[in-house]
Amino acid sequence: MSSNGKAKHVKVLILGSGPTGYSAALYAARAELQPVVLTGMQLGGQAALTYTIENYPGFPEGVGGAQLGELFQKQAEHFGAVTEFDTANEVDLSRRPFKVIADSGEYLADVLIIGTGASPNHLNIPGEVELTGRGVSYCATCDGWFFKDKKVVVVGGGDSALEEGLFITRYASSVTIIHRRDEFRASPILQKRAKEHPKINFILDTVVTEVIGTDKLEAVRLKNVKTGEETIYETDGLFIFIGHTPNTQMFRGQLEMSDLGYIKVNEKMETSVPGVFAAGEAADPHFRQVVTSAGMGAAAAIQATRFLEAESE
Ligand code: NAP
Repeated sequence: MSSNGKAKHVKVLILGSGPTGYSAALYAARAELQPVVLTGMQLGGQAALTYTIENYPGFPEGVGGAQLGELFQKQAEHFGAVTEFDTANEVDLSRRPFKVIADSGEYLADVLIIGTGASPNHLNIPGEVELTGRGVSYCATCDGWFFKDKKVVVVGGGDSALEEGLFITRYASSVTIIHRRDEFRASPILQKRAKEHPKINFILDTVVTEVIGTDKLEAVRLKNVKTGEETIYETDGLFIFIGHTPNTQMFRGQLEMSDLGYIKVNEKMETSVPGVFAAGEAADPHFRQVVTSAGMGAAAAIQATRFLEAESE
């Protein structure tokens, strides 16, 4: 890393420290490009908040999300990747080197690999913001323990809702999964496990319209979408798992994106700006798995290496 004024100049700057970021870092490091990884706010990304990952190949018994994140980091650093505990806030991709303004200063990058991932969606209903951290949560691994022997409600019908709901049964006395339809998009294996679990019950065709409580969560207001009937449901915890939004706001107007904010990439992980690559959930509305994000991160780094090589020829 060399210094240009106050800015740090790096060959390959990687935004994000999840499976995408560290897989890209591993490949870029092994290509001797001394990549620098800006961790973002959550070291290890979303995967690190997952209790067990059962579908990452190579771990037949499953592996802890945080543990897998540490292994990714260790492997990339072993080959020379550098981790900076820093978060990018602004970018200028109009000329090279690309400028990235982070919490602790400015970076100039010959090549940028975006692995900023996605963040959990909110219901955007009254009381949700006020009671977040006081009974409302978006992370079972982080907060499940607080609900020992308590009643918990989980919102959503995807893999996250069912997987996290199953996880919370370790602590809670009961877990009620509330879903807006009567069919789940979660994988059949998770549906089977959840339906057979003695602590889990379901309220279907129902949405949560209000989070009720003063100092802490006391109840949720429910509305049956078919009958319109409203009820108050008492609960100690409300876990919301209703999908994700890609963390791509800072690239708006600079990179081509889909209407939903996913960065558009071709099969080589190239974005609309030469020298900028994107991978993982920031660019992938379809698969969003640890293994696919890691694969895309590796592909982005391979292509970034080719890009730099072609320039130096
Ligand atoms: P998801 O698959 O997009 O599911 C979101 C769920 O939330 C859907 O059931 C959706 O209902 C519901 N929902 C969305 N907006 C809502 C709202 N405003 N009010 C009420 N309900 C709402 O999201 P995800 O479960 O977070 O999964 C994201 C990706 O990660 C998926 O590709 C998933 O396969 C993957 N993932 C995989 C694993 C695993 O393999 N073990 C674990 C976790 C996540 P509708 O069904 O009606 O749209």
